[in-house]
Amino acid sequence: MSELSLGIAGGGIAGLSVALALAQIGHKVAVYERAPEFLSLGAGVQLGPNACRILAQLGLLDHVSKVAIKPQHLFIHRGSDGAVLVDLPLQTLATQRWNSASLVIHRGDLHGALLEAARANPRISISNGARLVDAHDMRLGIDLHLDINGATEIRHHDALVAADGVGSQLRGRFDGGRGLRDTQRIAWRAVVPAGDAPAFARSASTHLWLGAAAHLVHYPLSGGTLINVVATTSAMAKRLVAGDYDAASDDADSQRHLAQSFENFSKEAKQLLAAVTSWRMWPLFDAAPLSCLAHGHIAFAGDAAHPMVPFLAQGACQAIEDAGALAASFKRHPQQPREALAAYNGLRLARASRVQAASRRQATIYHLSGFPAQARDLAIQTLGPMGMARGLDWLYGAAA
Ligand SMILES: Cc1cc2nc3c(=O)[nH]c(=O)nc-3n(C[C@H](O)[C@H](O)[C@H](O)COP(=O)(O)OP(=O)(O)OC[C@H]3O[C@@H](n4cnc5c(N)ncnc54)[C@H](O)[C@@H]3O)c2cc1C
Repeated sequence: MSELSLGIAGGGIAGLSVALALAQIGHKVAVYERAPEFLSLGAGVQLGPNACRILAQLGLLDHVSKVAIKPQHLFIHRGSDGAVLVDLPLQTLATQRWNSASLVIHRGDLHGALLEAARANPRISISNGARLVDAHDMRLGIDLHLDINGATEIRHHDALVAADGVGSQLRGRFDGGRGLRDTQRIAWRAVVPAGDAPAFARSASTHLWLGAAAHLVHYPLSGGTLINVVATTSAMAKRLVAGDYDAASDDADSQRHLAQSFENFSKEAKQLLAAVTSWRMWPLFDAAPLSCLAHGHIAFAGDAAHPMVPFLAQGACQAIEDAGALAASFKRHPQQPREALAAYNGLRLARASRVQAASRRQATIYHLSGFPAQARDLAIQTLGPMGMARGLDWLYGAAA
């Protein structure tokens, strides 16, 4: 088999996972990353068993596991009094029911592990300061128009995977003009030194606290030395735009909005929130599913393909699933990039769209108030851990 030359726009979790998956099956991959250098951005990321199975196929799970934590339980709390609505034995379920691990990891550690593996792979080249500006699909392959450190260059490849995140350069060509949707929700992210956090937040478990118009997620990171805290609120008057990630939140209006959103939460939840000294804000945008993830010699992966709200903790996991599916598709069509990308669409479109829609639904379910919230809490208690596990089989299970 002669190798193909594949271009990837973006060197985030999606771009690097795809690069590793395609290099592993013998293709030559060029990653073009806009940023002049990689920075350790973001905070914690949960990696469900569906992503961990693919990391295992890429030979990366052991390495990633060394810098990750395996949360033993997922506790869902009623925000107002802290009552545990359900205690899901997450790790036992992951290994026995979903056949892999469930991890939490700092995004920087995950990205670092992927980058180290990509840099060590002679089939992968990585160019920083290389921004995809345009792409012209040809009868054979595709020309990428790049801005490389200020100079315009054209590079020809057999196919392009656009993994350039939520603000993807090319996605707008294929989304029917619908663009991104502002969900009017803000994720406030912080990491707290474990020593400053209350004891309940330090155990190796993930906690989700549900309240009216706000919810809180936390878990330990980085060998348990840090606690990752994500507080999500809705309807803040101050408007942020899609590119405004990692925005500072020290102004009085933002702080007031956060305090008001959590004022009816329990003493314990407020204790953890009070331990945070610096929040960063992430406005949450998603989009309606694309009608097709592949067009000629272009395919989309990661947030460029299926931007979603993080309420099922699946954005990075779906990016990793994309990588696994692209490798399977190129294995089936080793010399026919268009056919491989069409096969990739066939493997991924329905599932990724379902995860997008389910994530969006969670946004409503998490922030219910009054009687609907009581009904939700009762439903969670009635389902219990095994009912909840059954409800997650489609997402985490072996068929995924
Ligand atoms: C609050 C919050 C919590 C989250 N929690 C989880 C979680 O628990 N589990 C989970 O699975 N996911 C989670 N996610 C989602 C996850 O972080 C993202 O889905 C994932 O990181 C997307 O990866 P990506 O590589 O597709 O995009 P990005 O990480 O955005 O990477 C895109 C890359 O492309 C580069 N780029 C952009 N434009 C160009 C261009 N024109 N040319 C070249 N390069 C370009 C960018 O510089 C960047 O490096 C969370 C997200 C948020 C906001």
